[in-house]
Amino acid sequence: MAKRVYLFNEGNREDRDLLGGKGANLCEMTNLGLPVPFGFIITTPTCREFFENGNKLPNLLEQEYRVALDLVEKKMDARFGDPENPLLFSVRSGAPISMPGMMNTILNLGLNDAIAEGLARKTDNPRFAYDSYRRFIQMFAEVVMNHDAHAFEKEIEHYKKERGYETDVDMTAADWQAIVERFKAMADFPQDPFVQLRMAVEAVFLSWHTPRANVYREMNNIPDSLGTAVTVQSMVYGNFGDDSGSGVAFTRNPSTGENRFFGEFLFNAAGEDVVAGTRTPQPISALKDRLPAVYDQLNETQALLERHYRDMQDIEFTVQEGRFYMLQTRSGKRTGRASVKIAVDMVGEGLINEKEALLRVSPEHVEAFLHPMVDPEAKTDIIATGLPASPGGATGAIVFSADEAVEVARDGTAVILVRRETTPEDIHGMKVAAGILTELGGMTSHAAVVARGMGVCAITGASSLSVNADAGTATTKDGVTLKRGDIITLDGTAGEVMLGDIPKTEASSSDDFQTLLSWADKHRRLKVRANAETPEDAIRARELGAEGIGLCRTEHMFFEAERIDLMRAMILAPDRKARKGYLKKLQAFQQADMVALFKAMDGLPVTVRLLDPPLHEFLPHGEEETRALAKRLDLHSGQVQTAVAELSEVNPMLGFRGCRLSVVYPEITRMQVRAIIGAALSAIEEGYQPYPEIMIPLTVNVREIRLVGDIIDASIRKVLGEKSVSLRYKVGTMMETPRACLGADRLATAVEFMSFGTNDLTQMTYGFSRDDAGRFIPQYLDKKLIEHDPFISLDQRAVGRLMRLAVEESRAVAKGIKYGICGEHGGDPRSIQFCHELGLDYVSCSPYRVPVARVAAAQAHVLAEG
Ligand code: PEP
Ligand code: MG
Repeated sequence: MAKRVYLFNEGNREDRDLLGGKGANLCEMTNLGLPVPFGFIITTPTCREFFENGNKLPNLLEQEYRVALDLVEKKMDARFGDPENPLLFSVRSGAPISMPGMMNTILNLGLNDAIAEGLARKTDNPRFAYDSYRRFIQMFAEVVMNHDAHAFEKEIEHYKKERGYETDVDMTAADWQAIVERFKAMADFPQDPFVQLRMAVEAVFLSWHTPRANVYREMNNIPDSLGTAVTVQSMVYGNFGDDSGSGVAFTRNPSTGENRFFGEFLFNAAGEDVVAGTRTPQPISALKDRLPAVYDQLNETQALLERHYRDMQDIEFTVQEGRFYMLQTRSGKRTGRASVKIAVDMVGEGLINEKEALLRVSPEHVEAFLHPMVDPEAKTDIIATGLPASPGGATGAIVFSADEAVEVARDGTAVILVRRETTPEDIHGMKVAAGILTELGGMTSHAAVVARGMGVCAITGASSLSVNADAGTATTKDGVTLKRGDIITLDGTAGEVMLGDIPKTEASSSDDFQTLLSWADKHRRLKVRANAETPEDAIRARELGAEGIGLCRTEHMFFEAERIDLMRAMILAPDRKARKGYLKKLQAFQQADMVALFKAMDGLPVTVRLLDPPLHEFLPHGEEETRALAKRLDLHSGQVQTAVAELSEVNPMLGFRGCRLSVVYPEITRMQVRAIIGAALSAIEEGYQPYPEIMIPLTVNVREIRLVGDIIDASIRKVLGEKSVSLRYKVGTMMETPRACLGADRLATAVEFMSFGTNDLTQMTYGFSRDDAGRFIPQYLDKKLIEHDPFISLDQRAVGRLMRLAVEESRAVAKGIKYGICGEHGGDPRSIQFCHELGLDYVSCSPYRVPVARVAAAQAHVLAEG
């Protein structure tokens, strides 16, 4: 039988999984010789045993911890349950991964009527003894016996009112003793300290499954199976008098990262008083003035701990009658900016190396340099939640249409565009909006993809919101009605909507950030490209470190105001000849755009995808818009209506799109290839080095690729003609249907690169429509039917398996194929790690994700190296 109970001198920091983070660190500090009140830890496997046993403690556990308890008594020179010389404990949870404040704690355990009396005698401080006793009853009743905590607080308030007291300071020993009697009448708690201990251990284990702990784990991807350890530690008291107190501190400033000891202290107060915020603590320097020797000891200890752990520490300590005790140390939570500064500074100080520094910075930390972020401290009531579609924070006045957005934003007013969903016709409004909020749509919906590309904060799939654009209202589940002009704040990183203007942190780069990114570039293998179609996006992407374009969705070029009608005229053309006429005009636009892209990405690859969406996406759907279009194109509105009806599909996502368009309308493909190659030639003439990669979308077999490939080759030959220029280019395919992946060995014979379109590949592997999945995925997550939204983070088991199979089987038949990913997962750190392991050559993501991807790619490489 494995050992279930460890004394503080029997473990060390490596034992997080076994003893929980808190317990492991208490052991480590004990080993370092720091003044830690002694105690023992019950292991996390015991928690699992407890659950497997139907929430019962293992038979021998009590015997085991009684042995440990004897040794603690010897060390502390006091006895648990002895009124003459009482030893009291704190009993706390401690998981392998920190879950601050999520689970239960019981303090002053071991008190009963006789022991409280003994404690009063021994300390000659009855007020302290009875205050501690009532705190214990209150906590025990709440945490172990599930009583309502407010009832106890109310009783104290009531008592004070009866006596005309203002604050707790007015309460005397006799008053606290009276409160104890009242509390005892309210909660029939056990007087036997050993029963208290057993019940407290059970309660801590059970707190692993409180709703808030479950939610926290889900939000932070902490596996349910870990379980918590229980730390039983001798109590020391900060509320013993004026030479006592409690403090919390950080070894560096957690907001700015500045390398200066930073903390707060409350004289004559227990630790919980500091955390509860009911009294205002003093800066740590107050301790220096009043108890200089203790301050020196604290200062030495914090420096030692930081050097030892080689990371910024968040510490808790207590001073009892002028004696200093360490209660906790852990790596401190910090803001994004602080995280980067601390990591870079620590490399400069020789504490860590560049690779370690890279692992210290999370993707959210990187985002703080790219977008304004909603200050988590300032968050107020959240009125709706949705998918975190595009990161950052934004505040503005609500508008319900793209035209209105343009109108209101004209004078510089920040607007939040609120829609049921967005379509390409909303682009002009999306461009001017500070933020975008939609009721429908998933992580790869139009709103999400476009907003991410623009770097505009967005929340999609906020299904608890009911948007009625005609009425100019959006109603929340709780009945709050938002109207045109109301000010709201979006947190696109968390997917939360709040009323009013919530403060945000500024986004701006820093020298430290650039240093960190340069280390990321040095320590990564995966290249990082951007998904971009406009020259502005491409320039931005390059500034942010993109090493090419991995996906230019050419259809976006045709959604611009002046072009969309040409596109529509082309689609509605009565015959091939008329269509060719419009295509020629479209070619001019496309070619000009492509020249700009090649210039922006001079010398770097630009992957241009042939037209992908079903044609009806370009056509208007409302009656009024149809009529207006007919008028502009000089057609009968009936003609337009018929065309719209003819092109409409039952399953457009699985319908007439992708390379199927090239098969049926080869003239569109010819136009596109002529534009791409023509643009490349123009760029060369201007002294640039274009490197086009032409990509065929949505293929399912090699015959399709050959057929479209022949059209591409012939068009290229035609444009190049007799010209004696050397143009580097490649032709390849997207890998976004399961069939393409399963037949990759055959596809390999006809392509030079393969780029995984994991948006469609996820949609088709799951059979979850990417535009509708937002309606049920929250329930799937809730009911744990899936672990995460597969449109956010790649489903490695099935979608990933298709990718692996495709890479392995194609590589076996053809060398030199380049592999990439251009679905939205290309910007998701967890998915990037998987792409690294798979041996892809590059990931491609929206421009603002490029720095995140650079860091994630480096982290994947560093982790893989071990
Ligand atoms: C994909 O399917 O992953 C992809 C990149 O293409 P799109 O999102 O344009 O369908
Ligand atoms: Mg696709």
